[in-house]
Amino acid sequence: MASVAPDVDGLGLIFGRDTYVRYHHVVAHNFLFISAVTLVSAAWIGFSPWGLGRVLASGLVHLLGDYWGSGQGWPLYLWEPFNDGFVLNPHAWDFNGPESKAIFFACVIASLFIARELHRTPFEAVVPPMDRALSDLAAWVPSRRCACGGAGIWLCQVCGLPLCRSHARSLGRFGLQCEACLSGSPGATLLESDGTNRRN
Ligand SMILES: [Zn+2]
Ligand SMILES: [Zn+2]
Ligand SMILES: [Zn+2]
Repeated sequence: MASVAPDVDGLGLIFGRDTYVRYHHVVAHNFLFISAVTLVSAAWIGFSPWGLGRVLASGLVHLLGDYWGSGQGWPLYLWEPFNDGFVLNPHAWDFNGPESKAIFFACVIASLFIARELHRTPFEAVVPPMDRALSDLAAWVPSRRCACGGAGIWLCQVCGLPLCRSHARSLGRFGLQCEACLSGSPGATLLESDGTNRRN
């Protein structure tokens, strides 16, 4: 969250293109703003130097990324509101240049790795059931089978049963559950509830 927070000043876009160009990279793309985000985040994560240091680092990485990757001619006013000086990278990449794409793909790979190994995705704070479903998917191993024998790429988020694509049922907000949990009798095996008794 902290790493995307500076782009709130891009919300000026809803007041029109001129407002956007005037304020994007000005209001929130500075050291004062990311320091404030870091302090506010202590309300959730406490005053641990390791935690707060990483929040601050997220903000700094954002500024560094914009310094290189926003395209030509996007200055950063890092010392606002104390000093109107700005930095402008004369060697900035094109916004959609190969460097930006390479970093994007590296981030996708890193996210997949983190989902598989650490069971966390970028959705954890926003849509927890989706976070769980995606990290379950990323952690799939061939031995994890659905009761029907198909690949158990999902897990029931109520009872933990592996589920194939066609036996997963929605739990709302992108969460998944098995047929038995959906019908209110968790623990019943999938085949019982799904095989012979089903009407269609
Ligand atoms: Zn930005
Ligand atoms: Zn279940
Ligand atoms: Zn199945």
